[in-house]
Amino acid sequence: PGIFTYKFDTPVYKGESSFSTGLFINGEFVDGSNKTTIDIINPSNGKLLTKISEGTPTDIDIAVKAARHAFDTSWGLKVSGSKRGLLLNKLADLIEENFDELAALEALDNGKTFSWAKKVDVQDAVDIIRYYAGWADKIHGSTIETTEDKLVYVRNEPVGVVGQIIPWNFPIMMIAWKLGPALATGNTVVLKPSELTPLTALRMAELINEAGFPLGVVNIVIGYGNTVGQAISEHMDIEKVAFTGSTLVGRKIMEASATTNLKKVTLELGGKSPNIIFDDANLEQAVAWAAHGIFWNHGQSCSAGSRIMVQEGIYEEFLKLFTEKAKAIKVGDPFDPETFQGPQISQIQYDRIMGYIESGKSQGATVHYGGHRIGTKGYFISPTIFTNTQQKMRIVQEEIFGPVAVIVKFKHEDDAIQKANDTTYGLASAVFSQNINRAITVAHRLKAGTAWINCVQHFNPNVPFGGYKQSGIGRELGKYALDNYTNVKAVHVNLGHRQ
Ligand code: NAD
Repeated sequence: PGIFTYKFDTPVYKGESSFSTGLFINGEFVDGSNKTTIDIINPSNGKLLTKISEGTPTDIDIAVKAARHAFDTSWGLKVSGSKRGLLLNKLADLIEENFDELAALEALDNGKTFSWAKKVDVQDAVDIIRYYAGWADKIHGSTIETTEDKLVYVRNEPVGVVGQIIPWNFPIMMIAWKLGPALATGNTVVLKPSELTPLTALRMAELINEAGFPLGVVNIVIGYGNTVGQAISEHMDIEKVAFTGSTLVGRKIMEASATTNLKKVTLELGGKSPNIIFDDANLEQAVAWAAHGIFWNHGQSCSAGSRIMVQEGIYEEFLKLFTEKAKAIKVGDPFDPETFQGPQISQIQYDRIMGYIESGKSQGATVHYGGHRIGTKGYFISPTIFTNTQQKMRIVQEEIFGPVAVIVKFKHEDDAIQKANDTTYGLASAVFSQNINRAITVAHRLKAGTAWINCVQHFNPNVPFGGYKQSGIGRELGKYALDNYTNVKAVHVNLGHRQ
């Protein structure tokens, strides 16, 4: 396979990267079985960054065999939890040792800013892997009292070979969210990163080897969704699949499971999260959080606070301050320390977002601010604010996945809750009010897996995350994620009861 070499010479980071662009199977970097490659584009200028090996269904098959062999011989219940925890901790150490390089790679093929990649993405990857390292020797079963002549106990056994399919918006973070609980509980993994953002995954593959994981415990196969992703979903020897991505693809994964081996499926899907701002909120703080909620990561966050709902009494004042915030956002080079917003990920996403902006206009909403491209190269879009929106508009109902906020006016609590719950999604939500009774009551009435009060976009390794309604199935993070990766076995032992 090829080698990717890159010299970073930026105001915030100087350094050189060099690593294999192959598929990572059984601890080795190899070409795809078709010897074909995928072009990786730099979203800041639309130019070719590198070519990487393209995986195929045959490669998935080879990776699954390696993972199965590793599970049967050198992982799973063949090694102690302490050993698994040690290796995960070692991996976290290695991420820390290469912290800036990983952040720079993340900024390079994703377009997110180097500073936020450091602050959130790479830091989160370290914290999460450490958190799950701590669980590795604490996977306990239980005993259940029945009668005196019987012993019943429950074991939590690893599921086996698991498939993991992740998106491009938080590449290294998603690797950590997926590998952490799977490896801590003793599973082996075939992971497919997004074909748009493979760089940190390839570097992580090297670190996984360096940490000393047995061969085949983690396999990373990059390829397209409809080939490699589909092959994972349909594989008869993959016993569980964890997916993060769009609701559209989530459905396909469930379908593939249903028509093959009924592998267990967990899904983290899209959102259209409401951010409700009452007239008794700290306005300045609410404005700052609301801007962060939608514009951070260029709006490419499943939990983006994309529907900003403002009580009518403070509507005008909120809009004025929020617009000033949007105007102050520096859009540009991810390696400029002043930049908050880099490019969108791809031409396809750029077109999709611009399409939504057009649909908002044609359905009668007002572009209050932005709505246009920035610059002439790369995929930069101005922070955009829509007003005069109606519930039925596509921009109010559908996930745009870009820096586009829709402002929705509401009258009172019931009106806010009715409008907030009026979508097919239910991932996250936020409430801003200084009346804590009101804030908590409203938070409890929102149909969403996360409710933030007087903040947004907070995540902790030990706090569960996932969706209500069509935002997903199952929970990631915290001890909740461990359940996704274990089978529960009840053992009945007869201590003397005779037939
Ligand atoms: P996507 O669904 O197109 O792709 C996600 C992954 O699935 C990629 O690796 C892709 O190659 C793969 N894939 C595509 N088609 C497939 C198929 N037929 N079978 C199997 N795999 C397939 O989504 P995306 O464009 O990469 O990411 C954006 C979407 O992800 C947004 O809708 C966003 O809300 C969602 N997302 C959700 C969360 C969450 O935690 N809930 C987090 C991040 C992103």
